[in-house]
Formats: sequence, structure tokens, C-alpha cells
Amino acid sequence: MPHPLSDRINSLPISQTLAMAAKARELKAAGKDIISLSLGEPDFNTPDFIKDAAIEAINQDYNSYTPVDGYPALKEAICTKFKRDNGLEYQPNQIVVSTGAKQSIANIAQVLLNPGDEVLLPAPYWVSYSAIAILCEATFVEIPSSIDTDFKITPAQLEAAITPKTKMIFFNSPNNPSGTIYSEEEYRALAKVLGKHPQIYVLSDEIYEHINYGAKAFSFAAIENMYDRTITVNGLAKAFAMTGWRIGYIGAPQWIAKACTKMQGQITSGANCIAQRAAITAVLAPVSNIKYMVDEFQNRRDMVLNLLGKIDGFKLNIPEGAFYVFPDVSNFFGKTFKGKTINNASDFSMLLLEEANVATVTGDAFGAPNCIRMSYAASESQLREAIKRIEKVLS
Ligand code: GLU
Repeated sequence: MPHPLSDRINSLPISQTLAMAAKARELKAAGKDIISLSLGEPDFNTPDFIKDAAIEAINQDYNSYTPVDGYPALKEAICTKFKRDNGLEYQPNQIVVSTGAKQSIANIAQVLLNPGDEVLLPAPYWVSYSAIAILCEATFVEIPSSIDTDFKITPAQLEAAITPKTKMIFFNSPNNPSGTIYSEEEYRALAKVLGKHPQIYVLSDEIYEHINYGAKAFSFAAIENMYDRTITVNGLAKAFAMTGWRIGYIGAPQWIAKACTKMQGQITSGANCIAQRAAITAVLAPVSNIKYMVDEFQNRRDMVLNLLGKIDGFKLNIPEGAFYVFPDVSNFFGKTFKGKTINNASDFSMLLLEEANVATVTGDAFGAPNCIRMSYAASESQLREAIKRIEKVLS
């Protein structure tokens, strides 16, 4: 007999990024020589100046519950960061600190979406956006793009996707999984369309903000008539190599911040106190402190594009940020390997796992069924070896 789980959990797809990472770990534990390019997780250590701040917080006996929306000093620091990096004026009562940007996004969806509302997802999009919409019993509507347009949607596509039921749109630039960065002009053109539909709220996920290779990311809330209906999401995981510390935050209209605090107060309370103290140091640090990681990611991106470009069949673009490449692999569809036909990106990704011992994530999970995602947040030698193995299998 099936376990009596709720319809809610039964309707929720599993996170493909986490599932692939778990599978890679499982195979490694079983003795297989797996190279995992599945998870978007910097392979650097958290910088010492941030670790020192955390140690100091422990020694100063920071051990109690924090205010639900975060320490006042951290919220002040986040306001300073928003002004410095994004030209955004937020007051501390517009900031909510959460247990990772993922919780920030879930909070926002929970407080804004009703069953039946439509959420626009420019594809490709991060796996959990659609799942979080499903949890809210909202309907997610994909706006497709392809590698030929650098994975960007157009204002005309946006206009065509909007209905009276549209309540939100999730933007993410630099984008996971494609690495695409929308320019200020491109964002302004999309905002012009949204200007005609005042019922739509914008979630602007800027978690990869600092990981860009020259094309500076632009904040959606910096567009004059969008500030009052944009929620800016950011966090420490990617830029500061702090994935496990779990600190995300939002800048939002005050009524949305208040609602998120209410939601969080009933589910998790304030985020970890030690991580919050360390976060004050991290967000106030000059961005130049983390440049060595960004430079290294750029070197790896160039190397990966160069090596993959030598393999027949991969269609590539040049991702301008984040730490993923997102090749179109549809040239391989219909081909057969050891009696198995590759029908789609999931089959292709599975082939790479089983035959090359390289873990990637299928583009199906991101609403882009012709592509696979490879994270280059791995060492240069691992990346070289992974691509060598892939080349061998494909040849
Ligand atoms: N955001 C990262 C990724 O896409 C971490 C895993 C997750 O939470 O999905 O790989």
C-alpha cells in the first residue's frame, strides 16, 4: 500500500540538481571514479576573513535565536551593499535574511501566490523555481529560448505569455543554468512590457551577481517604475564560497518583507546566528576580495569551452557569468551507443554518467530539453579529465 503522503509532496518533483549530486556521491562511495560536474558549488574554501568573523562570533557567545528577519547590523550591512553594488536604496525594514536564497524565494512565492496564479519562467530556469510554484498550487508558464538567442527571451515573447492570471515573473541574471547575463537595455525593454501590466511582481534572483566576466549584471529594481514591485534576491553562497552556511536575503517593498518575516516566523525563525555574524563581514567586504575566485572561474570557463568546442556535436555559446556551460546536445539525439538510443538530454546525461563516469544535469530539469548543464566549479585537472572521458565515449 502506498504511504499516506500528502498530495502536496506527491506533486512535488525531486530537485534534479541535488538528485544528480546525490547519485554521484553514492557511486563514488561504491568505489566508482566519478567526476561530478552536477552541483553548482564553488570548490574554494570560504575566505579566511569570513571564517575569522564566524570564530569570533562563537567566542563572543552568539548562540541565541536571532530576530526572525535577521540581526539589525546585518540588515544595515545589506542595505549598504545594495547601495554600493546595485544603486538600490533599501531600508532595514525592507530586508529579510533567510536560510539560503532558496528559502528567500520560497517565502516570496508563499506570500504572493494563490492557487491558479500564473508564474512566468523565462527558460532555462533554475530547477527549484517551478517546484516552488507547484508548492503554491500556482501554474508555471515557460517562456522558451534557445542557444541561438544566447538563451534570452524577447519583449514580444514576454508580452505573448502574459494573461490576466499572471502574478509573477522570475528573472535570474547571471542565469543558472545558462550563464547568460541580461544587459540593462534588455532588462529595460522587458520592463517596458511589464509596465503595462501592474499586477505582475518580479522576483529578481541575483545570486550570481559577482560571478561575471566583464558584462556587469544589472538589478531589475534599479528600473524606476519596477522598484515597487520587484523583490531582489541575493545571498552569500556563490560569491563567497559559503554554500553550506545558508544565508540568503531579500530587498523588497516593506509589505512583502513583513509578510516574508511572518511566514519565516512560523517555519524556521531566524537564520543561523554564527553565519549571520560572518555575513556582516562578507557583504561589507570589497568585491575585490573575491576576485581571485572569479578570475579562476573565467579561466576554467575558457578552457572548458575550448575543449568542448573540439568535440563534434556540442553546440556552445559563451556564458558571460555564473559557473556553468549549457551546451545544446540535440545533435546526438537518435544516435545509439551499446544498443541504447539517446532520445533526449536525460538519456545523454545518463550516458555520460554510466559510460564516462561524469555527472551532469539534464536540461529537462531547467525547461531546456536540448541541453545539459555542466558546472565548471571543479578543479582544472578534473575538468580536463572529465572532458577527455566524454570525448572518448562520444567518439
Ligand atoms: N543552486 C545550485 C545548483 O543549481 C545548488 C543546488 C540546488 O540547490 O539546486 O546546482
